[in-house]
Amino acid sequence: MRLNISSIMGRKGACLEVSKELPASFREAAGPIVCNLKVTNTGDGYLVTGVLSVEAELLCSRCLKPMQTTIETSIAEEFSIHPLEEEDPLWDDDLLVEGHEIDLTSLIEESVLVNIPMKPVCREDCPGLCPGCGTLLSEGTCECPDPNIDIRLAPLSKLLQQVSETTTPERRKDHGSSKEKTFKSKS
Ligand SMILES: [Zn+2]
Ligand SMILES: [Zn+2]
Repeated sequence: MRLNISSIMGRKGACLEVSKELPASFREAAGPIVCNLKVTNTGDGYLVTGVLSVEAELLCSRCLKPMQTTIETSIAEEFSIHPLEEEDPLWDDDLLVEGHEIDLTSLIEESVLVNIPMKPVCREDCPGLCPGCGTLLSEGTCECPDPNIDIRLAPLSKLLQQVSETTTPERRKDHGSSKEKTFKSKS
């Protein structure tokens, strides 16, 4: 998206409001990137600030179903009139005024791309898939034991294991001394 800034060139403090749509090139996009930007002549360059939003179709990270979401992000970057020192490894060639235009495409695309959620969820309480059989838990249940119950019972089963370990030698001792006593303690 190339923007003609000739109307604010040479006028420090002047600004330009831009509302445009940029076709989105990334595969998750479900519409254009809506840009509401302001370009301000700072004297040293042109400061671009504003908000970007785009509809995107992602896969829920829990249940893997397609989901629609709006990615919104704000930007604030300054375009320079002249390149900075050439040795500067951090210098970004994209943020340079070209004649009486600035090219916002890569700035806008990168700003949106870094804001695509890594672990989107279709809804906050999405139960996801059964880890045992893959059943979609929002649409049905399965016969697998509930992993949440297993987690809660884990300390108990550990305790039971400890109890059986400590009682076993005693039983052996009792067994050795008197069979009757063992039967009594069991009943
Ligand atoms: Zn989901
Ligand atoms: Zn299951």
